Amino acid sequence: MNLPTNRDDAARLDGRDPISALRHNFDLPPGVIYLDGNSLGPPPAATAARVEEVMRHEWGRDLITSWNRHGWIDLPLRVGDAIAGLIGATPGEVVVTDSTSINLFKLIVAALRIRPDRRVILTEEENFPTDVYIARGVSQVIGRDVELRVVPRRDLTSALDDDVAVVMLTHVDFRTGETHDMVAMTRRAHDAGALALWDLAHSAGALDVDLAAAEVDLAVGCGYKYLNGGPGAPAFAFVASALHDRLETPLPGWMGHASPFEMDLNYRPAPGIAQLLCGTPPILSLVALQCGVATVAEAGIAGLRRTSVDLSELFISLVESRCHGFGLELASPRDPEKRGSQVSFRHCNGYPVMQALITAGVIGDFRAPDLLRFGFAPLYVRRVDIWDAVEVLRRILADQTWDRPEYRIRAKVT
Ligand SMILES: *Cc1c(COP(=O)(O)O)cnc(C)c1O
Repeated sequence: MNLPTNRDDAARLDGRDPISALRHNFDLPPGVIYLDGNSLGPPPAATAARVEEVMRHEWGRDLITSWNRHGWIDLPLRVGDAIAGLIGATPGEVVVTDSTSINLFKLIVAALRIRPDRRVILTEEENFPTDVYIARGVSQVIGRDVELRVVPRRDLTSALDDDVAVVMLTHVDFRTGETHDMVAMTRRAHDAGALALWDLAHSAGALDVDLAAAEVDLAVGCGYKYLNGGPGAPAFAFVASALHDRLETPLPGWMGHASPFEMDLNYRPAPGIAQLLCGTPPILSLVALQCGVATVAEAGIAGLRRTSVDLSELFISLVESRCHGFGLELASPRDPEKRGSQVSFRHCNGYPVMQALITAGVIGDFRAPDLLRFGFAPLYVRRVDIWDAVEVLRRILADQTWDRPEYRIRAKVT
């Protein structure tokens, strides 16, 4: 690892990094250091023009004929294929549709149907709340005796008995950035006869995920985080092709029908992953997501991951040296191999400190009860930005500028 020792050194390393050279693909507002791409990726520079073109020339001029003429109808699978290339999946194994939450619903039920002799959905207490809510919702509506088993991470292996139909986990912990060993955990699930369902919300577009090598069965992921698809961008769902002939969605919508325009009242599923489509795809959002995915594909996941490790290592090292004595405590794994693309520090006044940072142009976010969370997306964050961000943080802590009443007012979104 090559950690810069001063700002000029940081700029020099940026200058030699081909990933940093792709920053022109984004135009962040001046004066902003954006360390929250793990929650909402910024818009690629090309997105507005492309969405406008689709609005004016496709929707505006060609109207409904665009479903055929401009291939709108195939866009969920085309963008899915582009995402497949970023997560070690094969074309035809990924579809873009609905939200992460809804795709979880579909895939948890699908997993229970593939393992009809088993009754347990196994997950961990550290999981993202929506994943647990949805699993509980499934257990309540499925119409047979299903148990949602939520255990602390350390008990996952011992809880994996032969009642478990599916192990549902998020690859990167949203609070600490800690990663699961996807290969080992998937193998353990398989050894126990269960399926493995991974949530890649904080992995896709940031980490070198290889679903094929890990022999993952099912996965979901988010379009608006590291894939830069825009607020509320559609999510994606992955089903390994080996399971396609046993796939049965609980939300059989007309877009997942083998032949929707026959308007046949009998549902016949489309072959393969397309069955997971439900209603009409959101074309403008898909177009924006396509632009976002292209920025990641241009950089290549391996290079992105390499630079993001450099950025997060630099951040931790600078915070611990320059902000020493101000009550910050690293909440993320110190080993970058065990960490996603984000770093969290605990601070007893985490919320007002983050508000002061945001006011000063360094945008991260806050997660209850005390976590300052920072994401490192090298597509638009450079080493000099890390250098400057830590300097701003040091000043806020040293001068106690965070200690103002207005910084304590909790907004709806933190
Ligand atoms: C962001 C995130 C989600 C988001 O789900 P939506 O339905 O798209 O709002 C789900 N799971 C995890 C782990 C996340 O980080």
